[in-house]
Amino acid sequence: MAIKKNKINEATDWEEIFEYQSVKLKKLIKRVYRNSPFYREKFQQAGISPSEISTVKDLAKVPFTTKSELRNGYPLSLMAVPEEKVVRIHSSSGTTGKPIIVPYTKNDVKIWAQLMARCMEMVGVTPRDRVQVTPGYGLWTAGIGFQAGVETLGAMAIPTGPGNTEKQLEMMMDLKTTVLIGTSSYGLLLAEEINRRGIKDQIDLRLGIFGSERWSDKMRAKIEKDLEIDTFDIYGLTEIYGPGIAIDCPYHTGIHFWSDHLIFEIIDPVTGEQLEPGEQGELVITTLTKEGMPLVRYRTHDITRLWLEQCPCGSQYPMIDRVLGRTDDMIKVKGVNIYPGQIDHVLKMTPGACSEYQIILTRVNAKDSILIKVEAVEGNDLKKVADDCKKNIKNKIGIVADVEALSQGSLPRSEKKSKRVFDNRDC
Ligand SMILES: [Zn+2]
Repeated sequence: MAIKKNKINEATDWEEIFEYQSVKLKKLIKRVYRNSPFYREKFQQAGISPSEISTVKDLAKVPFTTKSELRNGYPLSLMAVPEEKVVRIHSSSGTTGKPIIVPYTKNDVKIWAQLMARCMEMVGVTPRDRVQVTPGYGLWTAGIGFQAGVETLGAMAIPTGPGNTEKQLEMMMDLKTTVLIGTSSYGLLLAEEINRRGIKDQIDLRLGIFGSERWSDKMRAKIEKDLEIDTFDIYGLTEIYGPGIAIDCPYHTGIHFWSDHLIFEIIDPVTGEQLEPGEQGELVITTLTKEGMPLVRYRTHDITRLWLEQCPCGSQYPMIDRVLGRTDDMIKVKGVNIYPGQIDHVLKMTPGACSEYQIILTRVNAKDSILIKVEAVEGNDLKKVADDCKKNIKNKIGIVADVEALSQGSLPRSEKKSKRVFDNRDC
């Protein structure tokens, strides 16, 4: 099936993109006011009439939608269509409290598959590719979303789902998988396992598409080197389709997002003010075409910025930066705000340090201390790597941290997302 090209492809700057989005935005605001009791009440409480919102800038007047509101709406009170229009639900993992249930219409399912197919087309997946889909299926959005994208594009899906590394490698070798999809943690685990077993000459991978967690440049470089593949960072969240709403292209200059279906705003996470393109802040998303559960100004808590430059790939879809961290991942130590992304950055610039680390926070006699455990590349002096990391953390982040260097492979590897921050402070 051909991928529909949209008018937005001809846009050349933000003003044109905003103009195009504003037409759809007006319709969206009218639609949610009419069909969603949740939004009608929200707008009424804020004293906003739908006719006041006609441009992306006007969105600044509209209150944000938060994750806790979606949780409070459990299971289906944010549904904005009659139930007979809903063909499927997905759910967030619900690790803290009730999960969020997201209803999808037939059209939502179709658009999501098209967006996912666009992601794959952008990174060079073709109908000749064989794509191993290792994320989970079921309530979780990832597996089925990738699968639908692969099928829409016309490639061959190998739906292994998560875990069972033995089986994954068997399928990868026997079916000559060319594209691997999963979390970056699992990509790293498979890369290391392939090297440990010495089976690289039986692996035909050429691309990896990884998402669902932030991964450092160093980890990325290791996966690329070990597997001899190019890798791509795919972005998304369960509340808004799932993965597939943005991806980086073969130039890796930023993450292109589908501005004909989604408005991306960057706000100051503290004051809530809209920031200009180029400024770093929290990503807030408005869904322009979603029917089952449209969202207006949904706070993602992901820290990034809108990227103004034209990408050398020629795509007119605008970009965001790779996600630096989450507002709720921010760690406050000794009065300094730190994002784990900054530790990634320090490790990248420290020779002999691997990508894997843990941050352990403790408090003794009302004094915070921070210990960073980092793996050193084989053959390096552990003490030297630890000292160099410590120096770079002091210079780049401005705090004194204890650093312990460990031999390569000693920190745990995960098939899902790696837990890196352990805050053992009592209060
Ligand atoms: Zn590009």
